[in-house]
Amino acid sequence: MKSSVRDMFEIAARISEPRTDDDYIKNYWFGCVGIRGADDVMVVSKNLSVNLYIPENRHDPLKIYQKIASTHAESRVLKKMSTGGNLYVARISKGPFLKNGEYKYLMARPCNMCEQAIKSKKVERVYYTVSNKQFGIFYPKQNRDVVCDY
Ligand SMILES: [Zn+2]
Repeated sequence: MKSSVRDMFEIAARISEPRTDDDYIKNYWFGCVGIRGADDVMVVSKNLSVNLYIPENRHDPLKIYQKIASTHAESRVLKKMSTGGNLYVARISKGPFLKNGEYKYLMARPCNMCEQAIKSKKVERVYYTVSNKQFGIFYPKQNRDVVCDY
């Protein structure tokens, strides 16, 4: 049976699919959908790598730009959202996808950094993929996680 949570994960997964060379070298992809309670506005994003200009390296063309850790999909969505609402975070394996064409879901529990942003934006619930059989719900106000079967 398909739940609406699963549908939201599918949207997040579709957003996370690779489109650039940087995407293709990653081993997995993250996507996030944010839904604001009141008006159901949907905000979406994926992880992105960021290149920083390193002035000390200006004489070395190969090191002028240093790639830093990707900005996380959740924090990118939160920057575009007002307070409240729910997040849906999906992490998918590079493949192969499952036989039925489904994405292969991996653990997508937000990291400590994103958790702080989630709490300060007063998000109600964060749904995240755990596997193709289970998903998790993080309740920021109670600082509690539950794992559910689909
Ligand atoms: Zn994070």
